[in-house]
Amino acid sequence: MEYRFDFLVIGSGIAGLSFALKAASLGDVAIVTKKDKLETSTNYAQGGIASAIGNDDSFELHIQDTLTSGDGLCDPEVVEMVVRSAPERIRELVEWGVEFNRRGSGPFDFDLGREGGHSRNRIIHAHDMTGQAIERALIRAAEEHPRIYIFENHFALDLIVEYDGIRIGDRSIKRRKRGWGAYVLNVSSGQVDLFLSHVTLLCTGGAGKVYLYTSNPDVATGDGLAMAYRAGAVLANLEFVQFHPTCLYHPQAKNFLISEALRGEGGRLIDKHGRPFMHKYHPLGDLAFRDIVARAIDTEMKKSGDDCVFLDITHRGKDFLVKRFPNIYEKCLSLGIDISKTPIPVVPAAHYMCGGIKTDMRGRSSIDQVYAIGECACTGLHGANRLASNSLLEAVVFSHQAYLDVKGHFDEWFKRPFPSLSSQDCPYNALENNQQSEMVFIAHNWDVIRKIMWNYVGIVRRDSRLKLAQDHIAQIRQEIREHLPHIPLNTDAMELRNLALVAELIVSCAVMRKESRGLHYNVDHPNKDDLRWRRDTLIWRELE
Ligand SMILES: Cc1cc2nc3c(=O)[nH]c(=O)nc-3n(C[C@H](O)[C@H](O)[C@H](O)COP(=O)(O)OP(=O)(O)OC[C@H]3O[C@@H](n4cnc5c(N)ncnc54)[C@H](O)[C@@H]3O)c2cc1C
Repeated sequence: MEYRFDFLVIGSGIAGLSFALKAASLGDVAIVTKKDKLETSTNYAQGGIASAIGNDDSFELHIQDTLTSGDGLCDPEVVEMVVRSAPERIRELVEWGVEFNRRGSGPFDFDLGREGGHSRNRIIHAHDMTGQAIERALIRAAEEHPRIYIFENHFALDLIVEYDGIRIGDRSIKRRKRGWGAYVLNVSSGQVDLFLSHVTLLCTGGAGKVYLYTSNPDVATGDGLAMAYRAGAVLANLEFVQFHPTCLYHPQAKNFLISEALRGEGGRLIDKHGRPFMHKYHPLGDLAFRDIVARAIDTEMKKSGDDCVFLDITHRGKDFLVKRFPNIYEKCLSLGIDISKTPIPVVPAAHYMCGGIKTDMRGRSSIDQVYAIGECACTGLHGANRLASNSLLEAVVFSHQAYLDVKGHFDEWFKRPFPSLSSQDCPYNALENNQQSEMVFIAHNWDVIRKIMWNYVGIVRRDSRLKLAQDHIAQIRQEIREHLPHIPLNTDAMELRNLALVAELIVSCAVMRKESRGLHYNVDHPNKDDLRWRRDTLIWRELE
């Protein structure tokens, strides 16, 4: 099947939806999403979205906090643009129907929470289910829009890119030219459809599933990063993986986050004997930056041999906790933990990918007419460590930037005829459809990759472990190359292929950076090296 749209948006989280709602004023928008439309990281975001709107706050303070967290790698121009745009973008979210908690009836009278690394209360939230409030409102608005078409269970496999060839000596080099949409697997029919578009948006979210323990939902397999890399786009800073310090530690709790906002409300991290420990690691104690808290917990657990530490918020009492954190309260209670009476068992888990597809101030990737927005992008906002609650903000700000850019090129781009592609052009048509082949190879390699990444490329790194990870992953990638053509084309196989590639790229970036900065901590290079490494780690595939 061949579809033609003005815009193809890959992903139905905050980035994809907020762009689609704007772009639909210019043309028809297809949103493809690989599972249910609500299944996004956005939907699970708890804490909120940052904006300096409090009486005691200022843009300058929010900018400073973001730069401090980014540890020398933020792009100050991007930080300033994002922070100053925040109130306007939040006003738009409200117009689209998002209901944030309020203190009064004025347009900006929001209840403001506090999170680690923020010097003021500036987290706008909807109880502890901010992401759900945003996701549902945006989906509702998109579904009501006559020019937005949502395709659930459609898995984007690869970008369709038209290349310019140049010759250097006897070599023919492909110079990237222009994106024209994507090959998309219709999961229900098993067919690969062609989605042709003038403008393509990668809004595929993060890659937390590359690690054994993660707060991310199952869709976060780094597909956008892998697609962009295969197409020859530049990626940056993939070594900066943020580990959230506090995920619920319980055998029946898969990926459940205990929001930083609990520490913002006075929650304290303690060991199993009830002893607080964060004051030993940072003057900000329990409200230190995430990387410091995650490393402190990792150190405490390694020292004691315990499986977890605890977060104690019992002093706030049941009435407050039920009102402020209804989701966390209920979830914990369903597992037999009454958080108003008992400290919560917690462990760190992979949470956020600060690196991604390198973009400019307008969200443009290095492939013309292909944009990357949201967690799959590396815009320069987060640097070496994202400040809490800046990611939902980044997504809405950059979807606006991309919209403005597209609008400026509308006459030029949208008049160009679509390329005519035959079924032979689709690389996936050549795959055998061998239904007899064994799928055990997929499940096995998923597990192995996630364990390698957790054990060798985790919170604290060292050269020898990175080398081991590199060797193991290279071997798995080779196995995948050999086996993949002989197994049925399905989402598990395609996710494994992407996951293995993203693991390889994360390790490559981590090996390159011979220093410790922000989220990348390597005991063999424990200091910051501003002279050589105050710059992005860039990675791309040469196309021949
Ligand atoms: C538990 C949790 C709590 C968080 N709390 C906060 C918070 O309080 N504040 C904050 O700022 N940030 C928070 N974050 C981070 C933030 O939620 C995410 O960074 C943000 O929602 C990412 O939005 P996105 O639109 O880029 O991606 P997502 O919301 O993850 O959406 C990605 C979309 O892409 C689709 N997709 C992926 N691959 C393909 C493919 N191959 N084909 C088709 N579709 C595909 C997915 O199905 C999904 O629809 C949290 C994250 C988690 C996991």
